[in-house]
Amino acid sequence: MPEESVPLKKKCPKCRRTRPLTEFYRNRSQPDGRHPICRVCRLKETQQTYTADYPRWWSRVTRNQHKRYGHKVLISIDELANLAHETTHCMYCGVELRWNPRGDDRIYPDSPSLDRYDNGNVLDTKNVRIICHPCNAGKGIDTYEGYVNRCRNVVKIYGEKRKSTM
Ligand SMILES: [Zn+2]
Ligand SMILES: [Zn+2]
Repeated sequence: MPEESVPLKKKCPKCRRTRPLTEFYRNRSQPDGRHPICRVCRLKETQQTYTADYPRWWSRVTRNQHKRYGHKVLISIDELANLAHETTHCMYCGVELRWNPRGDDRIYPDSPSLDRYDNGNVLDTKNVRIICHPCNAGKGIDTYEGYVNRCRNVVKIYGEKRKSTM
């Protein structure tokens, strides 16, 4: 009987507890449709990688986000993690990027964020930079050159205004 062949419980090899299948995350690549280890153990594992190597964790999450947005992600996790390990400061404003988890999902002025240099749809090693969140928000839909020119204009116009009111 096919119904009987599907067990409703399985044993987690990590904690060695037998738990209902609902206590295992869904995973389509597994024969029973559930992750091999239980939710509790999986969460612990995830937290360990999160604190042990936050840049790598960030790389994985960021890649997945961009895939979901429909971008063509050609940069591998290793390549992006390497870039994350190398990038200590925002290339636009020079702020030191914070590569330590703060323990919440909020965005801070020194939170790293992925920039597509030419603002195209493709994410590869040539097109990807890691910059601070405010610069990425300020850059918006601009290319690198467009953003730098806009900043130049802000300095020029705002600087002149300030001079004239002094
Ligand atoms: Zn377990
Ligand atoms: Zn910046």
